[in-house]
Amino acid sequence: MANVVSIAAAAAASLPWDVEAVRADFPALAQLVNGHPLVYLDNAATAQKPAVLAALENYYQRDCGNIHRSVHQLGERATEAYERARRTAQAFLGAAEPREIVFTRGTTEAINLVAATYGAANLRAGDEILLTGMEHHSNIVPWQLLAERTGARLQVAQVNDRGEVEMEEFERQLSPRTKIAAFGHVSNALGTVNPVAEWTERAHAAGAVVLVDGAQSAPHLPIQVGALGCDFFAFSGHKVFGPTGIGVLWGRAELLEAMPPFQGGGDMIASVSFERTTYNRIPYKFEAGTPHIAGAIGLGAALEYLQTLGMTRAAAYEQELARYGAERLAPLPGVRWIGQARERTAVFSLVIEGVHPHDVATVLDTEGIAVRAGHHCAQPIMDRFGVPATTRASLAFYNTRGEVDRLAEGLEKVRRIFQG
Ligand code: PLP
Repeated sequence: MANVVSIAAAAAASLPWDVEAVRADFPALAQLVNGHPLVYLDNAATAQKPAVLAALENYYQRDCGNIHRSVHQLGERATEAYERARRTAQAFLGAAEPREIVFTRGTTEAINLVAATYGAANLRAGDEILLTGMEHHSNIVPWQLLAERTGARLQVAQVNDRGEVEMEEFERQLSPRTKIAAFGHVSNALGTVNPVAEWTERAHAAGAVVLVDGAQSAPHLPIQVGALGCDFFAFSGHKVFGPTGIGVLWGRAELLEAMPPFQGGGDMIASVSFERTTYNRIPYKFEAGTPHIAGAIGLGAALEYLQTLGMTRAAAYEQELARYGAERLAPLPGVRWIGQARERTAVFSLVIEGVHPHDVATVLDTEGIAVRAGHHCAQPIMDRFGVPATTRASLAFYNTRGEVDRLAEGLEKVRRIFQG
């Protein structure tokens, strides 16, 4: 729990968080929805954007050239901006070198890349892949596909009633056959913050390589891959306040170097003939074809923005909001809240007795409150708690106590409508 402890320490020492100034950087937050000021509480699905739009516009209107191949000015500017974004991502993750940063379409593609390359090259029949019961489908299905191809098996560390995987359970599922352990840092469905550094240590001791799905931690916690100790870390641009269609796979250089390519095409090669192709150095070996140049540049702008705000301060503010949300939502009659892990982000997965989550979300929408209803692409954890779906409010550092109050009032309204 190193992250959360350091957040608490920072909270005590931090500068005051000026949430109104932060909100002013996010134009989408200032709109009316159904006649009400928007309350955006669907940040786990995708987050709103700050200065990113200017970076995209600048690329498309001024620097629009292809990268790594044009000698003209525009191509050079585009290449410089794209590679600068890579260095920004490196700094954001505390990675050792820019070549350890591979741009992907998002977390999903990053995990598929590792499964299809590292996994296919290293797993054999009888090997095991360790997951947890709270994974997003993106961190389940690629491993199932790999298991089908190789004859490897999935082992699943089960979740307790609070929405945590206990260390004894995690260790019980590890064995000398575990070749890969892949787990989420933060659960999108429950908000549980997992002790990934400790899990990584145990998995390494068993001889496994570790992938951390950081889709829900990168937007909310300061990340240092060195401190986590993992081998791969994946996150999505659109959840860290950047564009859609872009994300990052960080991998240890020696592993990336040893892995076969993911896709074939331009830019990933050193030389091509009909007899033999040799591959480019990392990270380009994994970036076949013209990438999402504008997306990477926009992601770089979002990460620079986060670095300026300070992830530690942002996380400390969010922890405050999480505490306030728990205080406000816990006493609401008829509202059950699943996943009450001791270490959590500001995610509230709610079930209102007798009301379908889609109806809850629809009523909240009429009040201008955006939440997500559904299984959150995490059906196994819904099954674990015996519900088909929940209504999920997921907060970010630009949300306010007033917005949490509006959510609580909206939920009261839902109850009045459906329960009389
Ligand atoms: N992993 C987790 C924990 C997520 O919450 C998500 C998206 O919600 C993903 C992976 C997949 O992210 P993307 O759809 O951006 O690839």
